[in-house]
Amino acid sequence: MINTIFFDVGGVILNLEGSFQNLLEFIKPENPKEFWQEFNILAVPACQGKQSFNDFLRDVAKKYGKNISDNSLDDLWMKNVQETMKINSDVVNIIKKLKKQNYKLGVISNTIKEISEVSGSHPEDMVGKNIFDVILSSHELGIAKPQKEIFELAMKKIYSKPEECVFIDDVQKYVNVADSLGINGILFTDAEDLDEKLKELNVLT
Ligand SMILES: [Mg+2]
Repeated sequence: MINTIFFDVGGVILNLEGSFQNLLEFIKPENPKEFWQEFNILAVPACQGKQSFNDFLRDVAKKYGKNISDNSLDDLWMKNVQETMKINSDVVNIIKKLKKQNYKLGVISNTIKEISEVSGSHPEDMVGKNIFDVILSSHELGIAKPQKEIFELAMKKIYSKPEECVFIDDVQKYVNVADSLGINGILFTDAEDLDEKLKELNVLT
């Protein structure tokens, strides 16, 4: 029986569309959806604490044939993140419903140190204190999605088996890793779709 729900943050609890705008306009990817998936994968070394945020952004731009000058780095992302950080309140409502139904709740987030220092970006700031039983931030651990170790650590800390868990993320590759471990993975698109998928799993009534 499912008793545990794990959430991703960026792109799920936290709406990143606005934060992403300046970078998107600069890079102009042909397919923004594909770009977002790749962006997340390219971010993994930074999320493991092995690369600085600025170096990560330079690498992303280079891959798309662009050069970011030092003084435009802040405008492209950091300033934008601070100004446009928007909580997905429909998702927060789902989390609160799940809490009322006594599910164990956790966060498995690929975090970048520089962004995590932006005030208000911690899951407890967004959803509330004493909601999540476990919060895993990759940059503090040195392990990040898609490494299976971060999922295993999350389950160990919350005392749940894979088949008792649901994992919600907006990156297909991470959902696939969860599935491969026996966790019920859900690819997040929007709150309405999430609500339906949780009902299909008989998690939400
Ligand atoms: Mg995400």
